[in-house]
Amino acid sequence: MSLHHGRTILAIPGPSVMPERVIRAMHRASPNIYEGEMIDMTATILPDLKKVARTSGNVAIYIGNGHSAWEASINNTLNKGDKVLVLGTGRFGPGWGDMGKSLGIDVELMDFGMHSDADPARIYERLRADKSNEIRAVLTVQTDTASSVQNDIPAIRKAINDANHPALFMVDCIASLGCEPHEMDQWGVDVMVSACQKGLMTPAGLAFVFFNEKAQKARKLVHPSLYWDWTTRANPDVYYQHFGGTAPTHHLYALREALDMIVHEEGIENVWARHETFANAIWAAIDAWGDTGTMWHNIKSHSKRSRGVSSVQTTPDVGGILRHDCEFLAGVTLGIGLGMAQPNTPEYAQYFRIGHMGHLNVHMVMGTLGAIDFSLKRNNIPHGDGALAAAAKVMADHNFN
Ligand SMILES: *Cc1c(COP(=O)(O)O)cnc(C)c1O
Repeated sequence: MSLHHGRTILAIPGPSVMPERVIRAMHRASPNIYEGEMIDMTATILPDLKKVARTSGNVAIYIGNGHSAWEASINNTLNKGDKVLVLGTGRFGPGWGDMGKSLGIDVELMDFGMHSDADPARIYERLRADKSNEIRAVLTVQTDTASSVQNDIPAIRKAINDANHPALFMVDCIASLGCEPHEMDQWGVDVMVSACQKGLMTPAGLAFVFFNEKAQKARKLVHPSLYWDWTTRANPDVYYQHFGGTAPTHHLYALREALDMIVHEEGIENVWARHETFANAIWAAIDAWGDTGTMWHNIKSHSKRSRGVSSVQTTPDVGGILRHDCEFLAGVTLGIGLGMAQPNTPEYAQYFRIGHMGHLNVHMVMGTLGAIDFSLKRNNIPHGDGALAAAAKVMADHNFN
């Protein structure tokens, strides 16, 4: 007999929990895609996306997931044979690199492993050694969703500048946009890719490529693709060019609603502050449970952790048991240890992740933590006391002004 008859929570790092308002916004007949409301509404979405990204640059929208933003970003900046430096701090930096390889890009992976962020000093050294400016771009994630590390984007920019290197700086914010601070213009990011189903609380299906003038000017494309070209998508002559065809009508209604909530109601800085508090609450619980050595943070240093996802390592079997019990007995789906071990190996059960991005409040965070606590107790897994109390205390200390 299970205890999971009730509303379930998807506590994986994307897709995130969607607000009812966002879901309801899609429940309507298809609009005219040639004139009227849809065209007017799209015109309001672009400036709001830029507000979230903190850029006065351009944004191109693609009907696709994050992988399509990866492909679009490469298609718009690089030719076959161009060299890029990819920073590996988990699963997703190398994933972007793999996309590049499949498009004929010469990818050099600088690997920092699964437990630490990218070291600006190594990046500086590598770029200094590139006397002929062979490296056309540096590609990194802000948050790697597998390791849950957060890279120091301003520090990497500084390393590129200090090396006096002209490479484009391209950053994947798919897991971080709308979760933790990102200042595209101020931080000197040239190309930023994101998608709608994580911090932006919208059903998977829209991807975004933000780019500045430097990235536009650096283009020397031999075969720019009519479909992927960001120029007309960002600044179309005719409406359909925004999307290279029919607009993703219902996704746009959903995104409009989500942006209303993020930009016009809560405010992006308050969204960041909310995620900061929830992340700290969840970490306090993990620290308390981990007192007996059963679980520990994949990323040791607070300042280097993502504010939208937490990757946790456990003693044998514990991660697998928690994921199973939470999902099937308690109605809370936790994330797998993506990229940490192969599925169907014993090591796979030594990891789990908690997604804490998007539309979350105190009771949802406490519910997720409560389900983990329930599962630890049900299975007599050794764990420290006071995890829920510690999390509640962190949230009680949130700045409510
Ligand atoms: C989720 C994610 C992706 C991939 O996005 P999809 O929508 O699954 O294609 C890429 N990078 C990061 C950092 C992500 O979190």
